Amino acid sequence: MQREARTVEALIRRYCRDHHNSAPELCEDCRQLLAYARKRLHHCPFQDRKPTCGKCPIHCYAPGKREQIRAVMRYSGRRLLLSHPVLALLHLLDGLRKPPSGKASGPA
Ligand SMILES: [Zn+2]
Repeated sequence: MQREARTVEALIRRYCRDHHNSAPELCEDCRQLLAYARKRLHHCPFQDRKPTCGKCPIHCYAPGKREQIRAVMRYSGRRLLLSHPVLALLHLLDGLRKPPSGKASGPA
C-alpha cells in the first residue's frame, strides 16, 4: 500500500504541475485530492487483497473525488507509465487501462 500511496502522489504532482502551474508545491485542490486518496488507500478494508476499485463492492471515492482522480490517472498515468510502478495502481483504480495480465506484481 505504501507504494500505491507514493504512486498516487507522483501522479497528482505531475498532473498539478502541468495543469495548475503550481510546481513544486501542489495547489490546494490537488493537495486535498492527494490527502483524500491516501486516506482511502489507508482505510481500504481489503488492503493487499482488494480487487480493483472498479469491482470493489465499496465505492470508496466520493463521486467528485472519483472524477478528479480519474482525470489525474488518465493524464499522468500515460506519462509516467514507463518510469513508475503505476500499472498496479491503474489496475486498482480500474477501467482506464487494462494492464497485461500477470504483470502487476514483482520488480520490472
Ligand atoms: Zn493542482
